[in-house]
Order: sequence, then structure tokens, then C-alpha cells
Amino acid sequence: MTQTLISNRIKISGIVQGVGFRPFVYNLATRLGITGWVRNTSGGVEIKATGDPSIIEKFIAVLRNDPPLLSKVDNLIVEPVDTEQFNSFEIRESLANPGEFIPISPDMSICEDCRRELFDPADRRYRYPFINCTNCGPRFTIIQEVPYDRPLTTMSAFAMCSNCAGEYATPSDRRYHAQPIACGVCGPEVAFFSPGEPEIYAEEAIQAARNLIREGRILALKGLGGYHLACDAANVEAVERLHDRKQRSEKPFALMCYDLETLSRYVQVSDAESLLLESPQHPIVLLKKESEVHTLDHTAPNQNHLGIMLPYTPLHLLMLEPAPDFPDVLVMTSGNMSEEPIAYQDDDAKTRLSALADGFLVHNRPIHMRVDDSVTRILDKQVHLIRRARGYAPEPVKVNQQLRQVLSCGAELKNTFALSRGPYVFLSHHIGDLENFETLTSYRQAIEHYKLLFHLNPEAIAVDLHPDYLSTRYGEDLADASGLPLFRIQHHHAHLCACLADNDYHTDEPVIGLIFDGTGYGTDGVIWGGEVLIGGYQSFERVYHLSEIPLAGADTAIRNPSKIALAYLKAAGIEWSEEFPPVNAYRPEDLEVLSKQLALGINCALTTSMGRLFDAVSSLLGLRQHITYEGQAAIELENICDPAETSLYSIPLEGSKVNAVNVFPQILMDIRNGIPNSVISARFHNSVASCCLALCQQIRMTKGINKVALSGGVWQNITLLTKTLDLLRADSFETYTHRRVPTNDGGISLGQTLIADAMLRKQ
Ligand code: ZN
Ligand code: ZN
Ligand code: FE
Repeated sequence: MTQTLISNRIKISGIVQGVGFRPFVYNLATRLGITGWVRNTSGGVEIKATGDPSIIEKFIAVLRNDPPLLSKVDNLIVEPVDTEQFNSFEIRESLANPGEFIPISPDMSICEDCRRELFDPADRRYRYPFINCTNCGPRFTIIQEVPYDRPLTTMSAFAMCSNCAGEYATPSDRRYHAQPIACGVCGPEVAFFSPGEPEIYAEEAIQAARNLIREGRILALKGLGGYHLACDAANVEAVERLHDRKQRSEKPFALMCYDLETLSRYVQVSDAESLLLESPQHPIVLLKKESEVHTLDHTAPNQNHLGIMLPYTPLHLLMLEPAPDFPDVLVMTSGNMSEEPIAYQDDDAKTRLSALADGFLVHNRPIHMRVDDSVTRILDKQVHLIRRARGYAPEPVKVNQQLRQVLSCGAELKNTFALSRGPYVFLSHHIGDLENFETLTSYRQAIEHYKLLFHLNPEAIAVDLHPDYLSTRYGEDLADASGLPLFRIQHHHAHLCACLADNDYHTDEPVIGLIFDGTGYGTDGVIWGGEVLIGGYQSFERVYHLSEIPLAGADTAIRNPSKIALAYLKAAGIEWSEEFPPVNAYRPEDLEVLSKQLALGINCALTTSMGRLFDAVSSLLGLRQHITYEGQAAIELENICDPAETSLYSIPLEGSKVNAVNVFPQILMDIRNGIPNSVISARFHNSVASCCLALCQQIRMTKGINKVALSGGVWQNITLLTKTLDLLRADSFETYTHRRVPTNDGGISLGQTLIADAMLRKQ
């Protein structure tokens, strides 16, 4: 019988480390009677397996088709090798190939097994808030250095008790080599404190935190990637207090429900959405409100969606445990003042959050890397990332080509950076708005951390063309200090290429780019944002754009849609009459100043921004004159849109200019005729979508291009996106939209990477 044995070497790459892959292989091999070994390498996992050919075949089929839950097999190579006899199957020491990198698993939500143990009175980890295993728990947020091993994580301070050490060392145990392994005897613990009260611990601390929530007060809660601020979502007074304290009046708050059943009382949940909510990532999912008048409206004013997530750590489960007198939905918003990054270090959190919170539920497992909650939505049954962070980062975005090593510094708002190598782009987690020292510090630290973890050593630097972005300055300083080449990349070109890379596009064949966003620095110094480009990774050409409109006092105009509406009315030759809401937003003397300013172009920047066009329409309909967060006016315009309306306004094309000014007299006519805002909003959305189709048809006719990429923050508008895609697809255009990376500026660094790589090759 021995003569029928064969040996195979199996190499597997992808997310195969820190996810229970080796014990899985060990158990499978042992069960099948296969001998040999398995080990981690820098490239992934390597197996030597000896056994009967049919058994080996079965073994490989399971590895390929049914690997451990959290793993992701990118590639599996089988090589026949000389038959080698082993006595058993064993797990061998890791082998590091110098210069290679190992993907690191993102943080993963608590698994079903751990959840069961958490609530099992007979289990030794009953109600232990840090229960985890090889299939779940913290990863990226606690890793200080590689290889991923307990001494190089923030768990290094906790010496394992003999029970935990036993589980850790037993290959058949589901906690074999689970680096964050812990229990109530040896692991981290929770503590609760509030001003003037003694600190309390463990179960009592959790109950005290729950009491604070019951009383309608605000809790600072230390989670996986940072602090949250939590309160009873149904308590209007508590939510308003939190809004006031965070100084961001109307930005919707994220919510957390105990389970799907509770959640479905408030929002509509499709099968795809349930799967996403309960996925190992447990992101925030934007879900449609169950009815128009909603008990949670005050948590998300003027929105028809709520951003909700399920508890993703054992501590969250204990915090939200159902009880008759305990709220079934909590506000769970990031612990920060509106503009700052999320707090994650304990002393810093105490200082920064003490004015915001009435009590703190903390723990002593340090967070090494701050990571926000991810925000997602389902569209066409597919997951779309709006904010890519916890659960997704630092998993690299795989592209369909071999890339040189580039550091891409990203844009300014919703910043991410990226580091590339081979087919991988290590797109960072959401860093935030690079407008203050705190965020900039967090940005610098994260760049260094990614370089260290993935052995990256960039040979070029890419920055946005905008000279004043802090990310541009950072890249310039680094290029000066290092002597590395610096590439300045036009913002909308980066959007276009981010979309192409997101779709694994890898040819030089140019595509049409409908690139619509709020702000991006143009090659002519004008603020672009309503751009129709033709191009690809190598180059781009701007073929159409919205006609220019002056932004009076640049930044203040962005915060005041009324100013943009007035500029559009003036451009349309319409007199500012008191019946118009944007006119009413100003005192007569201010209007006079503004009128002169616009006429003479004093302190006015020109823009072709599509985002500003939506702002102007929102203002003219009286929906929003001043915004408190980015995109607010446009979101409120979308939210009232009547889905049944099919007519539209005409938007003429004048040379390369799309004359959107022309819609204003048409809208005013509708307003005077008593047409409801919901219909006007729909007509406006229809107009932009149909204008997109007309422009693409024009380009196809003259240049024969049939592929269209849609990118930029404006495409977060699902109504506009759906209408435009429907029109384009009905006319046989091939369309590309974002899925894996955000369509907003969170995707810019990916686009910069692909363009810089193309430039490097040309040199
Ligand atoms: Zn688990
Ligand atoms: Zn222990
Ligand atoms: Fe942008």
C-alpha cells in the first residue's frame, strides 16, 4: 500500500494568517490521515502533504472551496514533489523570506462560537468582555510590529494563565495560536468611572455604564479601534445634548442594535443587507427607514436612511444585552469633537471626551492603531464601501497588474493614503479630514506603521495637484528629504483611475470619465468638480465641464449653499427677489455687498463643481441655506426626490461647456407654477442623468469610446447614480462604478497610485 502514496507541496496566498488557517489544515490532514507539515511563510501558508492520491485530492478541494471563515484564498498552487514519508502531521515554525510581506487580518467581529460561550454560565469565559479566538477578535488595531505574534501586540503586557496557555499551544483547540487569547483570570478588564465617584470594575462596571445610558446620559465607551460616545437613541433630549456637545448639529449619528430582529423594527433589511450586517466585518450599513415618520428621526434629521451596525465585540454585546428597561437602540458615534480624529489613547480620551461624556467605560487593552467604523451600503445586491476602515483595512486592494512601490498621499477631506507593491495596493483605513494637527499626526503615524508592517519602501511619491492640501505638503517635504521623485496628480484624473483600478481595469484603452464631486484643483487653477474626461492611467483629456460660477469667499460659499444659488441666479440674469429662499437668508445690505463682489469677482474663486450645482438647487428650493456637514444640501435634495416623476429640464451644451445655469429659470417657473419640491428635485436629477447620457453619446459618436467610469463624491447620490446607469446601460454603454473603495475622496490615493506607477514606467 505504501507504493501508492504521493507527496504534494501546496502554497496558498491571501489572508491565511491570524485566521486559524494552520490549525484548520492540521485538523483536516489529521482527520484524513495525511502526514506532513504546514507552516506560515512571508508569502502565505505552505503545506507538504503525503497520502493516497484520492485523499490528497479531497484535501486540496476542501482547502480551495471551504477554507476557514475569515480566510481569503487568493491563490493556491499545487506542485507534485518526491514522495517523502512522515510519521504524523505537524505545525512547523514560521519561515520568513526577507523582503516579502504577509497580509495582516483586519479586526473581526465576535464569532458565533465565542458568542455562545460568552452567554454560557458553564463556560470559564462566561460574560468575559474580551473573549476571542482564531476566528475573531482584534488584529490590526493591536499589532505593533510583524510577525504577528503576541509579544509584538498590545497584549504583550498580559501573561497567559495556565488554562489559556494550554489552549494556545494545542493545535486542535479553536484558540490555538490566537494571539489575543485571554480570560477573566489573566486578560484585560473593564472599568467604569464618572466624575466624583470611585472607579468600579468587571460586571459592576458594565452595569454602571448601562445605568448611565438608562438615565439618559452620555457614555464614552472604549471599543476596538477607538472611543465611541453612546446614549439611548430613543431619548430625544440625550441625543440633542450629544449633538450640542459634539458641535455638529445635524450630521447623522451611527446607531447600534442588539440583533437583526431589533433592527428590523426601525429599518427595512434585505437579505443582502442582513448578510452584510452579520458579516465578519460588521460595518455600519445605511438602511432605509421603515416609515416616513420615524421614532429615531432626531438621530438623523432629514435623512431617509439610518446608519446602523450590530455589536461587534463581546463588550458591545454585554452593553446592549436586552432587558425590559434598557433601550434597544443606542447612538454609537465616534468619540471626538466633530472635526477631530476618533480618540483612542486613554489619557487623551479622558482629556478630550470629559466635556462630552458623563461617564467612561474603559479597558486596559491598549489600542495601537486607531480605526473608525466602516460605512457601507448595498446597491444592486452588492456591497459598496463609503468609508473603508474597521474590518476592511489593512487588507490590500488587489489590482490586475504589477505595481512599483509608490506612496500616494491622498486628498484632504476623507483622506486615505496608499502604498503599493506588486499586485497589492495597501489602501489605508479612513484617516479623516486633514485640517488639523491631530489628524495630521494620526496620518503620519499610520503611514509609518503601514511601511513597517508590510515592509514597504516607496520609490516615488504621489500628491494631489492642490498646493495647499496638508497631504501635498507632507509629500513635498518627504520628497525633499528623501530625494524620491514627486508626482503631482490632478484630482479628477485620480478619481477616474481609482474607479478603473476598483474594477480591475488594466488596458491602455481610454474610457469616458463622468467625474463629479465638490472640489478639486484643476490644471488651470479653477476649482473643478463637474468634469467629463477621456483617459486612463497614462493620461487624460478634459472634454466637457460645467460652466464656471464664482464662489464668493471660496470656503464660506461652500458652507453656504445660498451664496451659490445667488451666484447662479445672477449668472442666469435673474433678479434677486425676496420670494427666493436664498435671498431671504441675507440682510439687504449684505446682499448689496455680495452682488458687488460677484459682479467684480472680488475674492471669488471660479468653480465648475457639480456638488455646488446641487447645493444651489437645494438652496433655491428652500431646503438648505447653511450646511453643518459636507454634502448636506445635496443629500436633502436627493431625499425628497419623487421617484415617479419622469420629465426634465434642458441643459444646453455650448462648446465644451455644459450650461447648467440654464436650469435655474426653468426651476423658477416650476416654483411659480406651484410644482412641489419633490417633483422639481426629480426633474433636476433626471436632467443631470440625461445630460450625462447625451455627453457620452456625443463622445461615442466622435471617438468611438463605449466605456464609462463614474467617480467622485456626487455619485454617493444613489438616485442620480441609478438614473444615470439606467440610461447608459439602456444605450449599451459599458459602465464602471466603485465598490471596493469609496467613490468619494477616500478613493483618491488608489487612483494616484496607478497614475504614478504609469509615470514611473515612462521615466
Ligand atoms: Zn471567536
Ligand atoms: Zn487566561
Ligand atoms: Fe473629489
